[in-house]
Amino acid sequence: MTFDYDPQNIFARILRGEIPNRTVFENAHALAFEDIRPQAPVHVLVIPKGPYVSLDHFAAEAGVEEQAGFLAAVAEVCRLTGVAGGFRAIANTRQDGRQEVPHFHIHILGGRDLGPMLAHG
Ligand code: AMP
Repeated sequence: MTFDYDPQNIFARILRGEIPNRTVFENAHALAFEDIRPQAPVHVLVIPKGPYVSLDHFAAEAGVEEQAGFLAAVAEVCRLTGVAGGFRAIANTRQDGRQEVPHFHIHILGGRDLGPMLAHG
């Protein structure tokens, strides 16, 4: 499978500093910021700094250090946001996953009982 990355997507523009964000955490390989339309008391997006469109793209082509840095950022976001009671990590992917922004991101949701995993219908 080949993956085409659009460098004009909104998260690429956030990474370039062209659009502001509410940063929660940053390291060499990842940026975490608050979702602009929060679905829960905690709703943070964690994105890699490299040009990857999706989780499967990131897993296939990111280096070991990038992957480790990204996961470390996810863990740090969970610690900083205090979701000790639990959280949900979501990576919407392509059409069936209803991915809106074509730069790989994981949603970290928490701060309340999140209900069943998927709505029916
Ligand atoms: P999805 O691609 O469907 O996994 O979701 C993209 C997410 O990005 C949505 O939850 C949006 O609310 C969020 N979003 C879009 N633009 C921004 C922005 N400028 N800053 C923060 N979050 C954003």
